[in-house]
Amino acid sequence: VKEFDGGAVKALNDCNLSINRGEVVAIIGPSGSGKSTLLRCINLLETPDEGQILYHGEDILSGAVNMPRYHAKVGMVFQQFNLFGNMDVLNNCVTGQMKVLHRTREESVENAMKYLEKVGMSAYINAKPRQLSGGQKQRVAIARALMRRPALLLADEPVASLDPVTGRQILALLQDIQRTDGVAILMNSHNLDQSRAVSTRLLGLHAGRIVLDGAPAAVTDADLTRIYGDAESEAAP
Ligand code: ADP
Ligand code: MG
Repeated sequence: VKEFDGGAVKALNDCNLSINRGEVVAIIGPSGSGKSTLLRCINLLETPDEGQILYHGEDILSGAVNMPRYHAKVGMVFQQFNLFGNMDVLNNCVTGQMKVLHRTREESVENAMKYLEKVGMSAYINAKPRQLSGGQKQRVAIARALMRRPALLLADEPVASLDPVTGRQILALLQDIQRTDGVAILMNSHNLDQSRAVSTRLLGLHAGRIVLDGAPAAVTDADLTRIYGDAESEAAP
């Protein structure tokens, strides 16, 4: 459960889910249904008001779990990329490793180059974010998240700011990463077709509740009506 404005807004209610290794889970739902809040609670950018978040069976809200370690295991990328504007690509990828994971600069650079190579950005290490396109920025942000070797990568509307072709390339990159690195991905998108195409599992949210949890191929029109309501399921692509 997550409430805002002193309980006036119940952003999440009764959300039960578990995510397993190797899954690509796409959250769908209308604007305001709680998609971002769910991701932000899992990453503790928001603190849930009630409930538990278990990581390998341990409740991370209980104080018993080592937080830096948890944060290293759960990475996040955002619609607006959130790169450090004053740092070049390489330093965007190196700083966190040194500060948070206490890796040496040498080790951090080596690791950064490996992941920048993987996302196709190793030729841009000296560029500042403002010199990059949106798709390139998201590639760097994904590389930066992966450097911590997360078990779970959260992605909040990762392609919503990108043109459709670039968006598809970024989603293909995320799928590729899931296959090669084994990281689980939990992403949200307001694009139903894209979510279906990229995921192994769809979660539908309506007014802060999970009203669908199943295989993308098995989703019915009735499911979509439950998620989006009548008017919007007709309008959905
Ligand atoms: P989605 O990502 O599905 O569009 P959100 O998770 O952003 O939805 O929001 C869910 C609900 O919580 C909405 O009603 C939204 O207005 C509210 N909400 C989200 N974040 C805040 C906040 N920081 N303060 C107040 N209300 C918020
Ligand atoms: Mg959102």
